[in-house]
Amino acid sequence: MKSFTYERAHSPAEAAAAAARTPGTRFIAGGTNLLDLMKLQIETPTHLIDVNRLALDKIEATADGGLRVGALVRNADLAADSRVRRDYGLLARALLAGASGQLRNKATTAGNLLQRTRCPYFYDTNLPCNKRQPGSGCSAIGGFTRQHAVIGASDACIATHPSDMAVALRALDAAVETVRPDSSVRTIPIAGFHRLPGSTPHVETALEPGELITAVTLPKPVGGTQIYRKVRDRASYAFALISVAAIVQRDGGGCVALGGVAHKPWRIEAAEAEMPNGAKAVTAQLLADAKPTPENAFKLPLVERTLAAVLAEARG
Ligand code: SF4
Repeated sequence: MKSFTYERAHSPAEAAAAAARTPGTRFIAGGTNLLDLMKLQIETPTHLIDVNRLALDKIEATADGGLRVGALVRNADLAADSRVRRDYGLLARALLAGASGQLRNKATTAGNLLQRTRCPYFYDTNLPCNKRQPGSGCSAIGGFTRQHAVIGASDACIATHPSDMAVALRALDAAVETVRPDSSVRTIPIAGFHRLPGSTPHVETALEPGELITAVTLPKPVGGTQIYRKVRDRASYAFALISVAAIVQRDGGGCVALGGVAHKPWRIEAAEAEMPNGAKAVTAQLLADAKPTPENAFKLPLVERTLAAVLAEARG
């Protein structure tokens, strides 16, 4: 691990300003992803700002009937919250499908959104990777691509986003609250928070340099039957080959977001008009522009079959 300097933040605005002042700064909270990447020298921050003591660890009701989840709420605590379990079951199930109990006790809401891809070539510092080293090339293209994206990829990167929580948040229309280095605050809809790779796959979110996530807000509950189904190579502690987050309403409508298929949680609202017509119709629209490789083409029928099972379960 390369040496770095360290400080504890005393307020969100102060942390953001300090991060903007010092190039090479990273915020650290749970550290469940960042510390691994630092040990491998994939991330080499010169300065760490520890945000763990900021008062961002509460889950509070909002005036419009939703919930405001502090950036430092641990994944285990969010999944166990009675309001989340009752009104946002999709989110609780997605959280419990991720990582392990020990990791969920440390990992935070903001950190979960910001975790890096699990593309194996990203982790091999002997090989080119545009996400790790911009302009160096992409070793996955032409390589082993079973886990990689089938839609929304580019000639520069075909990685997927690993978060389960983010897929549920996309289906729930959550928003991300932040503070910028000039102390201004803003709200970023989750739909626009994660980016597709384009020619700059190392830029993964809409965050500006120094900008700090302070909370995630959930709109008022929409009801329905909420199911998160994750398909993976082993029963636990594995990332999704694909996942389906669905909210199914009594009239047959609802919404669907997918994980494991793209560089960001994948949702196309226009496809949801097809929900009463079944999984095949929805999948045809969701993945209309898919460009799978021979190794990951199985993901397309897997999405359709998984969504069919989810819809059947939701409709009893
Ligand atoms: Fe790197 Fe993305 Fe290519 Fe993986 S797919 S090697 S993360 S550029």
